[in-house]
Amino acid sequence: MGGRTTRQRKAVMRVLASCQDFVSAQELYARLVADAQSIGLTTVYRALRELEAAGGVDVVRDDAGGRLYRQRPAEGHRHYLICRCCGSSRPVDSEVVEQWADRIAAETGFAAVQHTVELTGLCAGCHTTTGEGEPPCRWEPAHQDNRGEPRSCAN
Ligand SMILES: [Zn+2]
Ligand SMILES: [Zn+2]
Repeated sequence: MGGRTTRQRKAVMRVLASCQDFVSAQELYARLVADAQSIGLTTVYRALRELEAAGGVDVVRDDAGGRLYRQRPAEGHRHYLICRCCGSSRPVDSEVVEQWADRIAAETGFAAVQHTVELTGLCAGCHTTTGEGEPPCRWEPAHQDNRGEPRSCAN
């Protein structure tokens, strides 16, 4: 791991930290390029893989099965409820899940047990504006046709 790799990973982390919601690798890449960073998309993917392995990011899947990333808060591992319509996310109380996972590990004798819990739904804003069923405003985080304009992370 050379100095260049470390610098690029720090750039990825900095951009990730500025995002409130989960973002795709493509969105991070677009933001880095807009920030005049010389970095390749494959480097962004590699940095995200390393961050994931080191526990620096939380990862969820979007509707299409793509991976979305968010900097892990200082208080550690969290679970999120994510809106399928607009992509907004909020951390949820998952103490019962953590206790259950700890108990399973203790009972089975397994070490380094990991778990993934994904909750998706329609947030209050999307739910009330669209009425019954799935809304028409399908969230497509992997938009490729937006001429380099990264989706705003502002909430
Ligand atoms: Zn929503
Ligand atoms: Zn957990």
